[in-house]
Amino acid sequence: MIVHPVPEEEIKSFIYWAHKAERLGLVTCSSGNLSHRVGDGCMLISTTGSWLGQLEESQIALLSTGSGEILNGRKASGESAMHRAIMGCRPDIDTVLHFQSPAATTLACMDLVPDYNVIIEVPVYIGKISCVPFVMPGSQMLAEAVAAEMMDSSIVQMRNHGQVVCGSGYAGTIQKAVFFELACTIILQSNMKALPLPEVSIQQLKHYIQVNN
Ligand SMILES: [Zn+2]
Repeated sequence: MIVHPVPEEEIKSFIYWAHKAERLGLVTCSSGNLSHRVGDGCMLISTTGSWLGQLEESQIALLSTGSGEILNGRKASGESAMHRAIMGCRPDIDTVLHFQSPAATTLACMDLVPDYNVIIEVPVYIGKISCVPFVMPGSQMLAEAVAAEMMDSSIVQMRNHGQVVCGSGYAGTIQKAVFFELACTIILQSNMKALPLPEVSIQQLKHYIQVNN
């Protein structure tokens, strides 16, 4: 179960995608945190207070996904309980990004839940998007609330806080976050008037993807 040392390629990929998340506008300064499964029952996660855009190897903690035990002596992100809870209930995914992009976070601060299906990328690449009320960041309660929604969603909006995305592979996971931010931007820039895709078209798109993948 201990995977010391973590293969250098795993560390390089983690750093590459942490930097990419910032360059794509998903996080800023110390907002957001990234985790990724490695080895058997372990995960890498950014350390508390680290800036994803400038992440270095010394700012990557190695945890036991199940117990949360720190395996390399580095202090994991304050949201590690949430990352572990999602990894625990979604064995099909290997990557979790907690982000705070401007348009998505604006909508997370509003007293409404829009229909996010304004561009085809939402039904095709993201699927269901859920939301949870404000719960203290870093708490076990937030971890459990988000993980419960992640059972059948791939993005969760956290009221007055930010969002979490999970997926298989760094690129696919980050792509979902970027398309979500684009949909939220369109919703806001249209003054909440953007029309969602017709439900029949959403079903056709989902069917098309299933058949062609
Ligand atoms: Zn947070």
